[in-house]
Amino acid sequence: MPIVRVALDVPISTLFDYTVDETVVTGMRVVVPFGRRQMVGVVMECVESSDLSIERIKPVMQVLHDSAPLSAKLLELLQFCSDYYHYPIGPTVLSALPTRLRSDKPISVKPVLNYRLIDGAPNIDSLPKRKVIARRIVEKLHEQICSLAQLRALSATAGVQLKWLEEAGWVEQCDASLLPLASEGGEKISAHTFANAHPLTKEQQQAVDAVTQSAGYGCFLLHGITGSGKTEVYVHLMDHMLQHCPEHGRRGGGQVLLLVPEINLTPQLEGYFHSRFPDAVLVSLHSGLSENQRLHNWQLAQTGCAQIVLGTRLSVFAELPRLALIIVDEEHDSSFKQQDGLRYSARDVAIFRANQSGVPIVLGSATPSLESYHNATSGRYRMLKLTGRAQVDARLPTVGCINTSQSILTEGISEKLLREVGLRIARGEQSLLFINRRGYAPVLMCTECGWLSDCKNCAGKMVLHLRDRRLRCHHCGFQLRVPTACPDCGHAELKPVGNGTQRVESVLQARFPDARILRVDSDSTRNKRAWQKMREQIHANEVDILVGTQMLAKGHDFPALTLVGVLDPDSALYSSDFRAAEKLFAQLMQVSGRAGRADKPGEVLIQTAFPDHPLFRCLQSHDFDGWAALLLAERQMAGFPPFVFQAMLRAEGMNEGEVYAYLNLARQAALKLKHPVEIFSVVPASLARRANHFRAQLLIQATSRKALQQFLRAWHLDEMPARKLRCSLDVDPLEF
Ligand SMILES: [Zn+2]
Ligand SMILES: [Zn+2]
Repeated sequence: MPIVRVALDVPISTLFDYTVDETVVTGMRVVVPFGRRQMVGVVMECVESSDLSIERIKPVMQVLHDSAPLSAKLLELLQFCSDYYHYPIGPTVLSALPTRLRSDKPISVKPVLNYRLIDGAPNIDSLPKRKVIARRIVEKLHEQICSLAQLRALSATAGVQLKWLEEAGWVEQCDASLLPLASEGGEKISAHTFANAHPLTKEQQQAVDAVTQSAGYGCFLLHGITGSGKTEVYVHLMDHMLQHCPEHGRRGGGQVLLLVPEINLTPQLEGYFHSRFPDAVLVSLHSGLSENQRLHNWQLAQTGCAQIVLGTRLSVFAELPRLALIIVDEEHDSSFKQQDGLRYSARDVAIFRANQSGVPIVLGSATPSLESYHNATSGRYRMLKLTGRAQVDARLPTVGCINTSQSILTEGISEKLLREVGLRIARGEQSLLFINRRGYAPVLMCTECGWLSDCKNCAGKMVLHLRDRRLRCHHCGFQLRVPTACPDCGHAELKPVGNGTQRVESVLQARFPDARILRVDSDSTRNKRAWQKMREQIHANEVDILVGTQMLAKGHDFPALTLVGVLDPDSALYSSDFRAAEKLFAQLMQVSGRAGRADKPGEVLIQTAFPDHPLFRCLQSHDFDGWAALLLAERQMAGFPPFVFQAMLRAEGMNEGEVYAYLNLARQAALKLKHPVEIFSVVPASLARRANHFRAQLLIQATSRKALQQFLRAWHLDEMPARKLRCSLDVDPLEF
């Protein structure tokens, strides 16, 4: 009897054997008994015999036919991830699937909906004039059959209008296979409209040519300063790839995968790319979608219907049978790294995937990660530079420092910065004050005995939120009412120390009582629609001063913004995390790019006690290359990535002794292997206690990826007893 080897979502690095009495192929989902439960799994192999005796093998309960089997390519990609990140195969495979496909209940198959005009539908003139959207839909369907996604691109209310048109006898649903792109073989060259409004600069054209002329796999680093028009390069590449699918020389359109760092940006980007490719099928994939939406979009990608897939890191595992190009925008962004479960870097997996599929990949950034930059300068990747701003009259902002040790500060804000903000208000321009800390103040202190608002569960401090008079721990969520007196000595005067967004907001309110101030942080944008509304306010110039965290730094274009003030960047300069300075530079460069994008020149003022630090000097001269060269020299000397390869074993638990005992045991086992890797001592994590759990870590380092992988395979951590502890192995860790 045929036997299938199934990947199941259990934390054991093995496949499970089951018998099956119908024809099954790899990639199919099956429901199987597991212990007393039943689970859904994915068939990874079909074999004739098993190591187990046949009577011990249980039969598959049900083969699910509700969705096409996963492709061999995707399974290979997932196997690679499981091997490389040393994470069990079952959870790796299952976590790549949309939630609905992980359920052991068959999904009710909602076919991908397409619409066409009914033969003999009345003339468009008989549609009421006020039915604007309905008229647009009918016009569109006159040209071709459209999917729901294509029609939604016309308007968000297309669904309602379609229902009305169906009932009124204008349109009908039809089979997905009628869509030109869904047909297997794809003999037709798919037509799409390209709104090509902007002529490319010479540099942009060179970048486009380099990618389109490369045959097969190639990794390109598109290093372009803010405003240099990276997106325009993406759009032209998309246009090219939507017409050419390189795989097997097959004619017809390809699919483009565009990875973006942040879910907040996807609606905006979706709108933008729709406007450039009005009739292409574009879907997004991110965790903000409902389960049904995500499944629907995933299936559109899987059938090849979706031409452009726009998504956050998880979309790197989307099925893309006609993949022609991958773009990773803001490739340096740390959100591409998953921080639990399968700790993959979507950027790195995307590179493997491009290589596997023999297609080009473009990594875009104004401030590339040192890893990518090093690979590009050493010739592993190809460097494509955009050095000029795409708009000729747009200038880079001037960047200056305000030395805080020589300035008068009002609750942390210098007089000079306040004056400049005042000038902008008088001119009807916007200012942004950037501080990467939400709440009112990072800690509350007793002026008498020095008591600090420590969290009782963590090694961190409780942050003061004055608005609702609470102390909150940002690590574990524990909160308290603000005490009226010192809990230790009873002294009545408790003083907030340091600045957060709320405090900056209140300083500005006191100074500029008539100004319209908007605070943008994860507290004020908790409501899904709030951020969207705020952006509209900013665009309509209904805001004078913005106060915000890194949320504001990313990819938003605010035309009236001419001043950016940066508060309190210094802590990153003496952080224990060797990547802190790299991240700070990228963040400041990004936030600086917000100033003066339109015809108004921008100014950036950074408050720091170290105005001569090379980081600020390079920032002032917009010299990323100089800064990168400096950091790379430092990293090489200190033996840090990208010159070495790292893996971090982390453990946490209620009992401190057990945490350290486990890690020390693992360390002893590692030392015994005598591999050519460097094994560090067990040390506390940077937050040594969180939510009552002690946390510690063990770092392993090697001079080559291969040596590190060989060591990790030999280490056999899964055989180490780690009861009651939460342990994880992080390959290429970003956080320390
Ligand atoms: Zn006290
Ligand atoms: Zn806490």
